[in-house]
Formats: sequence, structure tokens, C-alpha cells
Amino acid sequence: MSMTNRIVLHGRNIDPKILANSKALVAAFFQQKEIAVEEAASDFSGSEDTHILVEAEGKPDLGQISAVWMAGSGRETCEISSQEINCLKELPRIGRENITQIAVKQVICKLLTKITGQTLPWGIISGIRPGKLVTAMNNLSILETGQGIILGQKYLISPEKIKLLQQVSAIQEPYRQKAKKQQQLVSLYISVPFCPSRCSYCSFSFEHGSGRENKLSKYLQVLKQEIELVGNQMKASSALADNIYIGGGTPTVLTAAQLDNLLAWLETHIPVTRDREYTIEAGRPDTIDREKLLCLKKYRVNRLSINPQTMNDTTLTGIGRRHTVQNIIDAYSLARQLGDWIINMDIILGLPGEGRTEVEQTIRSVLELKPDNITIHALALKKRSQVWENRMLIDTGSSWQQIQRAVFRQILNNGYQPYYLYRQKNSAGNLENVGFTVPGKECRYNIAVIEENETIFGLGAGACSKIRDSNALTHQNIYQPSDISVYLDKFKSVDEKRNKAYLLQK
Ligand code: SF4
Repeated sequence: MSMTNRIVLHGRNIDPKILANSKALVAAFFQQKEIAVEEAASDFSGSEDTHILVEAEGKPDLGQISAVWMAGSGRETCEISSQEINCLKELPRIGRENITQIAVKQVICKLLTKITGQTLPWGIISGIRPGKLVTAMNNLSILETGQGIILGQKYLISPEKIKLLQQVSAIQEPYRQKAKKQQQLVSLYISVPFCPSRCSYCSFSFEHGSGRENKLSKYLQVLKQEIELVGNQMKASSALADNIYIGGGTPTVLTAAQLDNLLAWLETHIPVTRDREYTIEAGRPDTIDREKLLCLKKYRVNRLSINPQTMNDTTLTGIGRRHTVQNIIDAYSLARQLGDWIINMDIILGLPGEGRTEVEQTIRSVLELKPDNITIHALALKKRSQVWENRMLIDTGSSWQQIQRAVFRQILNNGYQPYYLYRQKNSAGNLENVGFTVPGKECRYNIAVIEENETIFGLGAGACSKIRDSNALTHQNIYQPSDISVYLDKFKSVDEKRNKAYLLQK
């Protein structure tokens, strides 16, 4: 297959918006290519680009839809018949996309599968929250078998992923019901965008290096002002935090004294439920010590995330993390000695230089530690990361799908259940990220942020607040600026906007 760096989508009798909405699907097959939408020319010969021409017969949502791949002298075609389109129309509509959009994506997906030999486990969906499709079907009282037909025939999702979605949905159901019934409950996210060093795959905007100490202490002062504002608003509207999640970055880069000060402030200002969940990301083991853990224990933090990503020293050095596998084991053991918190460990599939052997070794070592939660990520290529700048390609093909399958099997065999999942663009094997838990130890915040089923107040630079409407069908995202200097200036105006939106929805 000859390929150019630019792939152009054209349509005849097709709304250009539908083609624009199909760009992410094309990108799922081809990494780091520029995908464009342009008007169809009468003649494509001599062009230096690769073209995909999608054409609808008659009215776009009635007749056959065909797609032609043109790269140099190479041609390949695929179509979806009017009969097939009529069958799709008989299935209930559960997402935002209409039948024309679904049919255009299907024909493109089938064409590119033919060209590349690659089958996308998630079919034509490119959104990051596929679980919402299952929730929509549950709300329409569509039973599991019917759900399977819709997800398979309309969205071309593989049976394996359909089963995964349904398992996750069943575990989340009580949390959904709780969020529906108790609308005064909210989640609180606190952003601490500082890290000891940058991981090579990270595109996150955070502070490290010189001048960091000064900036960090200014940041904490302003963050505390925002916490106080939100706490007062919550008290005025009888809202209670059912969970608090301190993420980043790596919040445990704070000194024990800074942590103590921040957690005391939260305790004073934020009204919480009696059994509130309290999580802190302690992602880097080299930022954890006895003093900090004792401080977390003092404020009844009950969940930690200690994230190895891999249990392979060579990879850890290669991805820019300044700690060893032994540091991870030591930090984990210390945490276990000092408290009875629920501990999550994050793993990434597809790290540079890793394959099946390294992943198997990582999973074995992590399972030996018996964390309560294990989150399996697929490495995603992100713009502005070092991995992206080096134009490294991720294997989006089937080998990572097979490795992931083996990993999931092993985790399930050890008594864990999948309880939340989300997808990212440009990921290894086109795979999803899945959080597993031993039964009953799900993280409420993770469910809330992925399912968007309750209001989340996101505080600090780069944090996103999600203000849910009163019938829980939609929500509004409101972002604090991710640049710390801008956040220090603008946090109050974002807070006003958020408070207004929250009061309007009550
Ligand atoms: S720990 Fe997380 S936020 Fe920090 S550099 Fe690594 S990936 Fe980025």
C-alpha cells in the first residue's frame, strides 16, 4: 500500500460536516498523518495526496454509499447498500449521530480495514466515553441482547468490547442510581500541576525545574483561595462532597508541611459526606515518604495511586522517570504498613521498547503486590510530548490487542473486575484504558469523571468543572486555565462563571 503524509476526504452528495466528523476514524488507522476534508475534484490523477472519495446515491440517507481509496495508481472500493442502510435505520437511535453519519463512517471503516488489514475493536466510535451508549440504552430499557445488536451492527464494536462495556455498566449501576437520587452530592477535583520530571509520553502542562519552589508556594496560596470560595458556595447551596480527588501532576511533590496545610484547609472549608472518598495521586514513588503518608493518614485520605507504569528499570529510565522498580516496591510496602487505604496502580501498555515479555513481567510483579485497583492504560501519542516530537509511531495493530487480551485475562483470573473505561486518540492497538478493582473497592471519582453523571467542581490550573443539569442528561464543562500564571490571574472569574452555572442548574 503506497501512502502519502496527507489523506484527503472528499464527498459527493455528502455534507462536509459528516466528513469532518469522520476524520478521527481515519486517524485511528493512520498515525501522524494530516487528515483533511476538501471538495471533490473531477480528476484525482497526478495528485501527491492520498484521497478517499465518499459518494451517496440519490438522497444521502437513502441510496447506496460507496467509498473509493486513491493513492497513486492504487484504487480500492467499498460500499454499503441501500438495503443495509435500511436495516441500520430500524435500529433505535442511541447516540448523537444520524444514520447518514453512521453509514458514512461504516463505509470508511470497512474500506480502511480492507486497505490496512486492521480491524478496529471499537469500530466506528471515536468518542472517549463509549459507556455512555450503554447508559443511553439502559435508559431506553433496551435489554443486553438488543444492546449487543445495536453496538455490533451500528457501531461495528467487537463482541469482546461489547461484553466489557456491559460488565462495566453493571458495576456502575448503583453509582448511577445514587447520583440520580442525591443531587446535592458533588465530586471535588483539586489539581496540583507539578511533577519531579517529565515522562516522555506526557503532554501535560506542569512545572518542574528552576523557580518551581516559588511558583508552587504562590500556586498553593491561590488554590486555597479557590477552595474557600467553592466551600462557601457549597455550604450556601447545601452541596456535599461525596469524594475529593487530588490529582496532577504529582500532588505528593508537596512537602509534608505543604500537604498538611492544604489538607487542613480542605477539612476546614469543604463540607463532605460522612463516608466521603478521599484520593490522592502519589504517582511517583520517589515523592512518597513516611512523613507524607502519616500526614495523609491524619486527614483520613483513604485512597492512594502509586503508579509504576512498568516494572522494568530500563523502560523507567527510558521514559524519564527517576525511580527504580525497587522504589515502587518500597513505597508500596511502606504505604501498606502505615494505613489501610485502597491502593491503585497504573500500568501502561505500549511503552517504548516494550513488548509482550516486559508486559508479562510487569503484570506478574504488580499482581504479587495485590493492589486493590489496577488501571491498564494503552499508551497514547500526544502532541507536544517528547514521544510525539521524536515522531515515534505506536503500534496500533493487532499485537497490542492480543497482549491486552492476555493481560485482562490474567487480572480477571486474580479476582478483579473492570469498573470504568475510557478511550484516547492515537493509542497503542487503538485500545481503551480500563480500571479494574477487587469487588466493592471502585473509585467513585473515576466513575463520576468518565460517566459525567454528577457535578464535579474542578479546582486549580487546568482543572475542568462539570456542571450537570438537574435532569442529569447534559452538563457544562468549565475550565480553569492550564497555564499557572494565567490561572493565578483569572481563577476568580472562572469561579464566578462556575458558581452561576451551578446555581442555574439547581
Ligand atoms: S507523572 Fe503524569 S503528569 Fe507527571 S510527567 Fe509523568 S505522565 Fe506527566
